[in-house]
Amino acid sequence: MSSNKGARWCAAPNCSNNSRTNTDFSFFRFPKDHNRAKEWVISCRREDLINKTSSYLYANCKICSVHFEEQMFLNFLKNRLKPGAVPTLFDIPNPPNRKTVKRKAPTIRSNSIKIKKQKTTVEVK
Ligand SMILES: [Zn+2]
Repeated sequence: MSSNKGARWCAAPNCSNNSRTNTDFSFFRFPKDHNRAKEWVISCRREDLINKTSSYLYANCKICSVHFEEQMFLNFLKNRLKPGAVPTLFDIPNPPNRKTVKRKAPTIRSNSIKIKKQKTTVEVK
């Protein structure tokens, strides 16, 4: 019905970012490499995509920059990913383990990760 060709929708669950309305975000294609593409699929819990080929994923699916930790980016603008980058920040009940293990403050409960707003430090009053 609606042809969304041209628009780039984020493949992450509960993420409605797309390149038409969210120009602040970068959108990253799934890796061409089969194993890494699978890693992304598993990471974002898109089980419906698990049987797709990496070339299908590469051509059709993208993940926006809010799902990547800071250290996954090559640059400050966050439009380049490091070669082994995997998205780990998702608004889902059982998010994947983060690649970055923060050693300080192990008691912090991060049940609700604020990923909707990029680079915004939310101070709850
Ligand atoms: Zn997204």
